[in-house]
This record gives sequence, structure tokens and C-alpha cells, in this order.
Amino acid sequence: MVRKVRTRETRQRRLVLETLRATKTHPTAEWIFEHVRERMPSISLGTVYRNLNVLRDEGLVRELRVNGRTAHWDADLSPHAHFVCATCGVIRDVEGVPPLDWRGLKDLVGCEVHHQRIDFHGECPSCLRQQEPSN
Ligand SMILES: [Zn+2]
Ligand SMILES: [Zn+2]
Repeated sequence: MVRKVRTRETRQRRLVLETLRATKTHPTAEWIFEHVRERMPSISLGTVYRNLNVLRDEGLVRELRVNGRTAHWDADLSPHAHFVCATCGVIRDVEGVPPLDWRGLKDLVGCEVHHQRIDFHGECPSCLRQQEPSN
């Protein structure tokens, strides 16, 4: 019985991870839940939340709290920055931003840095287009 439960949990976790890996949109747990449910109708939103937290603790996904409220999720672990649109809330990957060399920070402030995050905030191209005055 314990074995059966464990197998189901493993399947749920793998499905949550696969769903997140298949998108570049940095979705919320609710979005992931809607998509996982198509393949596993018995799964609950709470289970998705729990699995995301486990995956984050295992270092397999990143949790992004870009606006301080809603958690968004990213399975792309490569170092990359994010752009957050202040109008529509879209989160895009920004590649090619040279990472700040923070190894010297320890000498500077005495803190041990584990990782860094770079978020840019502004207007995305489609929101910019909508603001253009129409002729
Ligand atoms: Zn936008
Ligand atoms: Zn990302």
C-alpha cells in the first residue's frame, strides 16, 4: 500500500514537472493544475502546490515572486533574467544579460551569496503597441 501511494506521488510529481518544462510562460500553480488535470483528472490543486514546493526544494524548478504576490514557476534552471510587464503581467525570459560578478561581494559586505536574480520591469511590446495612438 505504501508502495502504491509512493508510485502515485512520483507520477504526480513527474507530470507537474513535465507540464512546467513544456512551457516558457512562467505559469502559476493554477495554470499548471488546469493542464495536469487534462492528463490526471483526479489531481487536486493542493497536490500541485505541494509538488511544486517539493520540486523547488529539490532544486528542479524555480519559484518567481515577481510582483510580490503570486508565485510563478520556471523549470528553466539556466542563468537568465526576467522581464515583467507592468500592464499585462507577462513574464519573459531575457537571455544574454551578463551576470554581475558577485564573488567579490563577500569581501565587500561580508555576506555569502548563493545566487542572484535579475528582474526587469516595464511594458512588453504588445502593451506598447496598444498604447500607440491610432490614426
Ligand atoms: Zn504587457
Ligand atoms: Zn525564466
